[in-house]
Formats: sequence, structure tokens, C-alpha cells
Amino acid sequence: MVEAYRPQNYKQALELMGEERVVPFAGGTDLMVKSGGLSGCAVELDCPAMFIGHLEELKKVEADENCIRIGAACTYAQILENRSVPGILKTAVLRLATPAIRNAGTIGGNICSASPAGDTLPVLYALDASVVLESVNDTRTLTIREFITGPGETFIKNIELLKEVVIPNKNFDAVFYRKVGTGVVNSLSKVSFTGLAVIEEGAVSGIRVSFGAVGPTVVRSKKIEDHITGKNLLEIKKMVPQLARSYSALIDPLDDQRSTACYRKSVSLRLLEHFLRNVLK
Ligand SMILES: Cc1cc2nc3c(=O)[nH]c(=O)nc-3n(C[C@H](O)[C@H](O)[C@H](O)COP(=O)(O)OP(=O)(O)OC[C@H]3O[C@@H](n4cnc5c(N)ncnc54)[C@H](O)[C@@H]3O)c2cc1C
Repeated sequence: MVEAYRPQNYKQALELMGEERVVPFAGGTDLMVKSGGLSGCAVELDCPAMFIGHLEELKKVEADENCIRIGAACTYAQILENRSVPGILKTAVLRLATPAIRNAGTIGGNICSASPAGDTLPVLYALDASVVLESVNDTRTLTIREFITGPGETFIKNIELLKEVVIPNKNFDAVFYRKVGTGVVNSLSKVSFTGLAVIEEGAVSGIRVSFGAVGPTVVRSKKIEDHITGKNLLEIKKMVPQLARSYSALIDPLDDQRSTACYRKSVSLRLLEHFLRNVLK
């Protein structure tokens, strides 16, 4: 038997977080699976649960000339319907689970679960997203990279809620996302790749590359990106073997039930090569 709260508003939810130990949940598609044991068994939690999926402040999507703010309890279905959400995030969401899960699962849940295979994460890293964390007396903003500290681990305090994710507005000339899983949908990523670039007069003036499910957290290297920036497309094509070696040193996947480390690494590097050779033009 699990005790559960359904706060009337966001303020009450934050107050409750400050008063006693509760575990917040929105879609429950991670929490219930993680805490449910065998299929059909009752969920077991060591403290009361608090439903936050109905709270207005967490369900807003707001866009202005600088950024888009997506409330933590926005479901994937809601994200897909919103015209301001960057196309590459929608592409990743469309390949995440099935419509039923996308009707319940939220972006905030994906971020807070911090799974190495979380499908929104590599895209959010590449988009330079930040997260806004709130408690009764404090609001703080961290980059997604600062927030996620390891597999299933984040910098959230147990008195805080993730309020929203903030994505700065930016246009890219080259946009590439690929999820590799066992099936087209409803399978967790073996590997995922995100590549974004701005190209001016035949040269790359900005590039972002991230890999999902190939290490404890998303792999993105500012150092390698800076090394590519400023080079023309021909130079970049010549640099592909060297760049593959540099990323290979950072990619450290596991063997698990979904795939082997060797497969994950070789597919990641093939996707990188495809992006650099064929998508950048
Ligand atoms: C059949 C199935 C298929 C799936 N396929 C995929 C897939 O392809 N790709 C993928 O990435 N994921 C997949 N998932 C995992 C899951 O659906 C997603 O991670 C989803 O985004 C979780 O969101 P949620 O709202 O359900 O999270 P919940 O289960 O409600 O919460 C997850 C965790 O986040 C915390 N949390 C949630 N919201 C907040 C908040 N606002 N503030 C603080 N803490 C919070 C909770 O306490 C909990 O620890 C799948 C799950 C299932 C059951």
C-alpha cells in the first residue's frame, strides 16, 4: 500500500516537499516500473508519493525571442503538438516508446531518471538546455550537463522539484538525429546520436555532437567541437579518421542485455562519420 498526495497547486507541492520526504511523479512510467518489482505486483516505496502531473506551472510551454521553456510535467504528446518545440527534440520524442507511453511520460521524468538511455538527453545536451529547480525558498538553474552526474544520479535536492527545461533559440543548417534500437519504436536505445551544425560560406561556424547510451552520461566534447569549428567542409572530411579516434577515446559503452560495447562503439562512430561526411554540406 502506497500513501499518495495530490497537491492542489504548485505552491502546495513545494511546501509538501519541504515538510516531509515524498517522491514526486508525473507519468509514473519510470517510477512505477522501477518500484513495482514483478509485473502486476503492488508498487513499493519507502515514503509517500506525490502526483505532480496535473500542476499547471509544470505543464506550460512558453516561447520568446530567446528561448523556449518546457514545463517538467509536459508529456511527450504535448511536446509533439507544440509548434515552438525544436524539430530535433520532436524527432527524438517520436522515436521514444509508443503513443500510450508518450501520452503519460514526461520530459521532466526522463531528465530526472537520468538513464544513460534516456532519449531526450543527448538532444537536450546538444541544444545547450538548462534545468530550473525550485524549492519553497530557492530557484536555481543548472545546465543539463551539470545537473546529471551519473547513471540515475542528479544534483536535485529532495526538497526540490524540476520546474522546467530551458532551450535557447538557435537555428542550425545541418540537423541529424538517429536512434538505434532493436525495433523502430518501443525499444530503448542501444545508441543514439545527435549532430547539429551552423555552416557559413562552406565552413562550419558552430557544431554540436552528442552520443547517448554509450557511457554513464551523455558524451559531448566542447574541445573536439572547438577543434572542428572554423574548418571548411573539405578539411572536415579529411579529419574524419582523426575525429573518430578522438571520440572513440571518450565513448565507453557497456555490454548489457540490449547490446555489446563493441557494437555500440562501432555504430556510434559510423553515425559520426555519416554526419561529418554526408549531412554537413
Ligand atoms: C514500455 C516503456 C517504454 C519506454 N521507452 C522509452 C524510450 O524509448 N526512451 C526513453 O528515453 N524512455 C523510455 N521509457 C522510460 C520513460 O517512459 C521515460 O523516461 C519518461 O520520460 C519518464 O517520465 P515520467 O513522467 O513517466 O516519469 P516518472 O516515472 O513520473 O518519474 C521518473 C523519476 O523522475 C522523478 N521526477 C519526475 N518528475 C519530476 C519533477 N518535476 N521534479 C523532480 N523529480 C521528478 C520521479 O521522482 C522519478 O524518480 C519507457 C518506459 C516504458 C514503461
